[in-house]
Amino acid sequence: MTLGLAARDGRIVAPDDTTAAPLAVRGLTVTYGEKPALFALEATFDAGVMSAIIGPNGAGKSTLLKAVLGMVTPVSGNIRAFGRPVSEVLSRIAYVPQRATVDWDFPTRVIDVVLMGMARELGLLRPIRQDHRDRAVACLSRVGMEHFADRQIGQLSGGQQQRVFLARALAQGAELYLLDEPFAGVDAATEKTIVAVLKSLRDAGATVVVVHHDLATVASYFERALLINTTRIAEGPVADVLTSETLQATYGGRLAQAQLAQILG
Ligand code: ADP
Ligand code: MG
Repeated sequence: MTLGLAARDGRIVAPDDTTAAPLAVRGLTVTYGEKPALFALEATFDAGVMSAIIGPNGAGKSTLLKAVLGMVTPVSGNIRAFGRPVSEVLSRIAYVPQRATVDWDFPTRVIDVVLMGMARELGLLRPIRQDHRDRAVACLSRVGMEHFADRQIGQLSGGQQQRVFLARALAQGAELYLLDEPFAGVDAATEKTIVAVLKSLRDAGATVVVVHHDLATVASYFERALLINTTRIAEGPVADVLTSETLQATYGGRLAQAQLAQILG
């Protein structure tokens, strides 16, 4: 039956369910060994919202993003992006992995890292045109890195590398952005730049989901938060979600009373 089918990227696909969330996770369980890294996790991320994923080390935050992207195979659960299986909409999803997990010795120029963001659009064999390069440089200038286009990525500081990876995500022109601890080990100026770029994406209607480790900045950066520790502890507007009860449930005894007082204001 062909009724209601529409073409995208040369493939025949069913039309979007326009009411579907950019990302919906249902009953997601992931195990690496015997102990689940995620258990029956529920999460929904809406368009035009910037959300934090919060939880202690080992809570399953990176695993959640990897499961969304198909980098780990869940034991059970359902993940839909824009109402579809994620594999059908990968071009609409940009992922910035945790910086520590990237091999920085691989010799690559900054401009080529950004052009990789356009890989799906460019195809494997088509030549890179000047307008592609111009667009890549424009993405670099959004993160203040336009003067580093010809540098080797491995020679940059941690903050500069993180900016370049955000520029690559921008070059992709995605609608859903998944970032894993983008502020870890970056300088204050980079953090400010990244936050500003993410907010501008959000304001333009994109969905921004960030694994975040600094509880002190959650309220100023994000509208919503998902607190997890293997399973979901709380989800909602930051002001509702960050309470001493939920933080204790998420972090156990790992948060000192003084820290709690600071976070909760
Ligand atoms: P977070 O990002 O919240 O720190 P992760 O998602 O990286 O947590 O890890 C969740 C749990 O799964 C941890 O206990 C971690 O040790 C384990 N884990 C993560 N990746 C692997 C892997 N590739 N093999 C085995 N265990 C893993
Ligand atoms: Mg992690």
